[in-house]
Amino acid sequence: MNTPSTLRARVVRCPQCGKESTWSAANPYRPFCSARCKQIDLGAWASGQYRVPAAPPDNEPEATGNVNSFA
Ligand SMILES: [Zn+2]
Repeated sequence: MNTPSTLRARVVRCPQCGKESTWSAANPYRPFCSARCKQIDLGAWASGQYRVPAAPPDNEPEATGNVNSFA
């Protein structure tokens, strides 16, 4: 409790390369370790490497949270 957590940089794993990176205001690329890793990740999204599962065209009735629908 001696050190304010807001002033401490957290060490996180870079999602791209797995190296330790610093999560702080000094690291504009957080949670990535570098601009390069951030770019790689953004590029992966842009090129469709990370594909979201195909959404069904109609609404999922159970996704509405309306649990009382058949009361
Ligand atoms: Zn990295």
